Amino acid sequence: MTKIGLLLVEVRMRDELFTSSTLRCDMSETGWTMMNRLNGSDVSYLDYNATAPIRPEAAAAVIEAMQSVGNASSVHQPGRQAAHRIDLARQQLADLLNCSPGEIIFTSGATEANNLALRSAYIPGNPLVTSPIEHPAVLETARMVTAERAEDLVLLPVGSDGLVDLNALELVFATRSGGVVSLMGANNETGVLTDLRVVAKAAREAGALVHTDATQIVGRLPVDLAELDVDLLSLSAHKFGGPQGVGALYVRRGTPLPHRPLLVGGGQERGWRAGTLNAAGIIGLGAAADAARRNLGEEAKRITTLRDRLEGLLTCALPDCRINGRRDQRLPGVTSITFPGVPADAVLAAMPDVAASEGSACASGAPTPSHVLLAMGLSREDADSTIRFSLGYATTDAEVEHAMEAVVRAVTQVRAALAEADGPR
Ligand code: PMP
Repeated sequence: MTKIGLLLVEVRMRDELFTSSTLRCDMSETGWTMMNRLNGSDVSYLDYNATAPIRPEAAAAVIEAMQSVGNASSVHQPGRQAAHRIDLARQQLADLLNCSPGEIIFTSGATEANNLALRSAYIPGNPLVTSPIEHPAVLETARMVTAERAEDLVLLPVGSDGLVDLNALELVFATRSGGVVSLMGANNETGVLTDLRVVAKAAREAGALVHTDATQIVGRLPVDLAELDVDLLSLSAHKFGGPQGVGALYVRRGTPLPHRPLLVGGGQERGWRAGTLNAAGIIGLGAAADAARRNLGEEAKRITTLRDRLEGLLTCALPDCRINGRRDQRLPGVTSITFPGVPADAVLAAMPDVAASEGSACASGAPTPSHVLLAMGLSREDADSTIRFSLGYATTDAEVEHAMEAVVRAVTQVRAALAEADGPR
């Protein structure tokens, strides 16, 4: 077998390696330690856009909630206590977003929030304006709801810098009005930020609702809903240090949103989301929101410095690598880097001590090139040679140094293996 063949076998083995590792967070008496160890060696966890390690405050709140009994809908004392703790979490999230607690609907995550937002806001015959670089939870929902009226679905163009062309909004609304505009606050693959103020202004003038999938921004950059004129906003707790499987949809008070809940039943969440509330998840979300809010500015600065350092070191050691997306308009901790001619899966397999993501989504086991990178004009080969590193609140200098060395070693190794495989036999 060639070295590349061996590397690909390693890709398949990677999952097994990780399940037998001790890549976990631990709370000790002295505080919070990241047990980033894989088979005895250190691991740099640089995949915060996939999921962030749970914050110690959130883990403690989840454990405490799971040790308590009480359905928030029950009128007895334990039920009222559960309802009280959920009210507190709602307030903590409202404080992070600067909105009112009554504008929050708790969901199972951003996927559900995006589904709820678009299935409610889209009215057949009106435009649903979005972009080809949205998360599938928006794109697939948009495609599904407009399936019978394809002309209602409008995808705005995207530049090679990963920015959605917002001037095109004017063109769309020159001939149509109303409907809904749904654009993400920050792209999960490149970190590129959308200027939501411009979006809101254009949409307002055309009488359209504004939804934003803010999953990657909330808890990482300030979001002030008193100032940002959007009607609907989706988020997921695990991206900012809360537990997985819980999120929220913000609905601005007074938004004329047709009442189309995805789940009906007990009438929880003012009839928008039936089912017993996920108390532990929501309480953990609240604690994470509170911790993120207290450290927002400092964390963003520190993480930006670390990301810039990683980029600086990598572009210096591997001068042909390319950073994707508009560099001065990005989330603090994200960098998407193309290593030309070097398959990302082989690089990741060659560095099991670095947790990062391919530029390709691999949800079904069959890797497909990233729809985001393709929309930005990258070739399929370049998209397949792209790795996303995403840093966050607990990333350390040592993790960045270690990752940088591991990446350079892995890229060099894979290049040498490819050259050998291509050479004379
Ligand atoms: N939107 C964006 C931008 C995301 O990054 C994600 C998670 N990758 C989601 C939506 C979906 O979040 P969840 O899986 O927590 O529902």
